[in-house]
Formats: sequence, structure tokens, C-alpha cells
Amino acid sequence: MLDLTFTAPQPKVISGAKAEWELVIGLEVHAQVASNAKLFSGASTTFGAEPNANVAFVDAAMPGMLPVVNEFCVAQAVRTGLGLKAQINLRSAFDRKNYFYPDLPQGYQISQLYHPIVGEGEVIVDMGPGPDGKTIARLVRIERIHLEQDAGKSIHDMDPNMSFVDLNRTGVALMEIVSRPDIRGPEEAAAYVAKLRQILRYLGTCDGNMQNGNLRADVNVSVCKPGQYEKYQATQDFSHLGTRCEIKNMNSLRFIQAAIDYEARRQIAILEDGGSIVQETRLYDPDKGETRSMRSKEEAHDYRYFPDPDLLPLEIEQAWVDDIAATMPELPDARKARYMGDFGLTDYDASVLTAEKENAVFFEAVAGGRDGKTAANWVINELFGRLNKESLTIAESPVSAAQLGGVLDLIGSGEISGKMAKDLFEILWTEGGTPAEIAAARGMKQVTDTGAIEAAVDAIIAANPAQVEKARANAKLAGWFTGQVLKATGGKANPAVVNEMVARKLGL
Ligand code: ADP
Ligand code: MG
Repeated sequence: MLDLTFTAPQPKVISGAKAEWELVIGLEVHAQVASNAKLFSGASTTFGAEPNANVAFVDAAMPGMLPVVNEFCVAQAVRTGLGLKAQINLRSAFDRKNYFYPDLPQGYQISQLYHPIVGEGEVIVDMGPGPDGKTIARLVRIERIHLEQDAGKSIHDMDPNMSFVDLNRTGVALMEIVSRPDIRGPEEAAAYVAKLRQILRYLGTCDGNMQNGNLRADVNVSVCKPGQYEKYQATQDFSHLGTRCEIKNMNSLRFIQAAIDYEARRQIAILEDGGSIVQETRLYDPDKGETRSMRSKEEAHDYRYFPDPDLLPLEIEQAWVDDIAATMPELPDARKARYMGDFGLTDYDASVLTAEKENAVFFEAVAGGRDGKTAANWVINELFGRLNKESLTIAESPVSAAQLGGVLDLIGSGEISGKMAKDLFEILWTEGGTPAEIAAARGMKQVTDTGAIEAAVDAIIAANPAQVEKARANAKLAGWFTGQVLKATGGKANPAVVNEMVARKLGL
């Protein structure tokens, strides 16, 4: 297991004009279930299809059409729950949340209000390594996860006089993942979403593509005076916390942070001015860097929730849950711990390598049977550095794990120097090929033949008697000889061998 330092919450403190304030944040994350078909129909979920190409009769709410729950989506929600160490509810139920909107042909969204499929769980949020090198971790509790349908899309900017409706997204399965208000600052909120996204991607239950709206968060923000949150923690009594506002539909980690900061300062200014916060839904405008009111609680919809009569309560068996549990992949924290333990990597390197599963798989293919630290170094600095520079993903890497492994083998056996390895990497990147063959064909070979090195060392010592005197008086100056020998041998001599021989010949 990861060696974690759980810290007490580190609330972000904002100084208002009159007092200091702390932030309290709870998130409702909508994660699109990775599934080929929708929650209650067989229509495709492919992103970017022609408008209204992926619409079954039930999605369009044709009269008499009945929803049939997609077992795979249910399994994905259970898998997610297990990944968040959450309680799985063997009996859950679907409810209708009634409201009118043009992109919601049913006139209601099918959701799970009263009996969600997943109960309490947790996310261990990684706040980076502390001074002792151990990961600083914060625990954010999950309150529940429920399954629900996504709505369609209204398009208002294609025609000056008309709006259009695209129902491709209508009925796509979402998991709404609701956190407790355990988050204390903008950075923590972003780190929470990032960790949740990472876990979902490892699980394969959500692609987590935030730009496509695949993962979006409603962010609840309130402010309170120092000490109030501790009272809430002790009693779980929300009356110690301030009135919250909810910022809807955030799909960027950067904007989430900016919106929280703006919203907290807005609330503080109102409170210090003697006003009070009205509970409301707000929208963040990234261009202005502000949140603005969308609807207040008084205008809040009365959704008239009731159990959907078209769907029986959802009953699943423990044995089925156990089957899913038996096929759980290794999750990010476990993988990170393994890299630190087995390969001796630092917390930072292990975090970088496990951030994305594809990267971790690549690293393991390079590191297997080789020195883990060297492999990590090459993957992170040379490979990721280069991929970043050229905006390529790991799947698009011109250098494969096998090729990079081949380079490391040549370094490990002493056949090529670090400098040659970098040249070789460059050739592999631009021209491809097999490392050993390229090295042979281009004469990349360190001279470890001591006879040849010895001749060069002797020649240089003989030609520089004054320098010899200096080096004998001050051993630090022996490096000069190594440099000369490397130059004389065209950089092909193995520096370690040269060093050792120079020292011996000078009698150091
Ligand atoms: P509702 O019943 O109105 O949906 P919930 O209690 O379910 O409200 O909370 C919705 C979200 O708001 C949760 O993510 C929760 O953590 C968060 N939340 C609740 N109280 C606060 C608060 N005082 N400050 C910030 N977030 C809060
Ligand atoms: Mg709620």
C-alpha cells in the first residue's frame, strides 16, 4: 500500500475586508458511462455522429415505447462503486424527475433519487509529496452514486430565427458522483476531480474527456468562519456551514479553481456587507472570470419525483457484484505503491508514470527485467519530454517500448555511453530501426578494450608532465586527464574505465 501522510484539512483562508474566512466545497460530478449503448435503449453513444443519427424510439419518447435497463451500464456503476470502496446497494430504483425542456422529449429524466445504486465511498486525493517525500493525502467522502439519463442538446447559434435539437446524447447513461462537503480549497477541488477522473479511466467506466463534456462537475461553494467546519466535522450538522451556491456544468480543472475563488470572494463581500447568501444555481463565465445567477431557490423546479412505473426496482445479486469485484484492475494508488516499492522510484516519478494507465503500461514494458530507475528516467525525461514537445500521445510515440528497452540494454552492458544513447534515441525517433543494429552500423561503441584506452592514457600522461605534478598534488585535477583521453578516443572510451585507469596510473 501507499505510504500516505493524511493531513488535517488545509483550508484555504481568504482575508475579507473585516475577517478571515474559510471555504467549504462539495462536488457533484456527472461522468458519462463508457458504454456502446444508452442506459435504456440500444442506440449508439458514439461522439460526433450526425445530429439525430443515434436515436432509438424510446430516446425520442415515442408513444408506447418502454425503457429496458442496459445491464452493462449497471455493471459499470457497480465497478465504479467498488473502485471507490463504496457500498453497493443490491436494491435500487429509478425515479422520474419531471421538467420540460425541448431537448428532453420524455418530459422527465429517469434518475435515482431515493435509492441510488451506490452508497458511501471515498476518494484519496493526492496533494503531492510532502517535505518527507511521502504523499500528502486528503480523504474526500463520497455520499452516493446514482445512474441517470443525459439530456439532448439544443443548438441556438446555427440560425437567427430557429433553434435545433440534437437527441444523440438523450438517454446516454451518466453516473452522478456526489461528494460530501469535505473539500476545502480550489486546488483540492481540482485535485479531487483529477483523481476521480484517473480512477474512472483506470476502471474503464468513463473516458473522462472533459472537453467533450464526458466528465463535468457542479461545484457547491460556501464560506464559513474559522472553527465552524470543525464543528460540522464533529457532528455532521450542516447548520455550522454557510449557505451554498452551486456553479453548474464545469468541464475544466482550471475554470473550476477560478470559479471557486471568485464565488468565495463574492460571498464574503456580501456577508461582510451585512447581507446574506441566497441559495442559488450560478453559471461561470470564463471570459469575464465571474459567476452569475442562473436561478434562485425560489425559482427552483419542483421536479415532482416519483418512482418510474415503467421500470421495476433494480435488484442485483451479491454473486454478480463479486464477479465484478474479481475482475477489478490495479488502481492508481496500488500501482504507484508498487513502482515505489519494486523499482525504488520517488513519489514524484511514480505519480508521473501512473497518471495515465497507457503511460504506466509503456513504462512497465520498458522497465521489465531492467533497472527501474534508469527506465523511469528515460521514459519521463527523454520520451515524455519529447512527446510533450511534439504534442503526441503515448500511442503515437515513434519510439516503441521495445526500442527504448533496446537502448537501455546497450547502456546497461556498457556498450554505449549516455551521450551515444541520446544520439541513438534521436535516430530511432526520426528514422526508426533496431537499436543494436543502428549502434553497430554507425560505429556507436564505447571502447572498453583496456589496451586501447591504456595506450591513450599513457600518451597523454607522457605529454603533460606539469599537469601530472598538479594532479598528484590535488586529485581533483585528474578529471582533466579523463577529458583528454575521451577526446583522443573520439568519445568512445568508457568514462568509468578511463577514470579508474587514470587514477591508477597517476598513483592516486
Ligand atoms: P441537495 O439535497 O439540495 O441536493 P445535498 O445535501 O445532496 O443537497 O448536497 C449537494 C452537494 O452540495 C453535495 O456535493 C454536498 O457535498 C454539497 N454541499 C452541501 N452543503 C454544502 C455547503 N455548506 N457548502 C458547500 N457544499 C455543500
Ligand atoms: Mg442531493
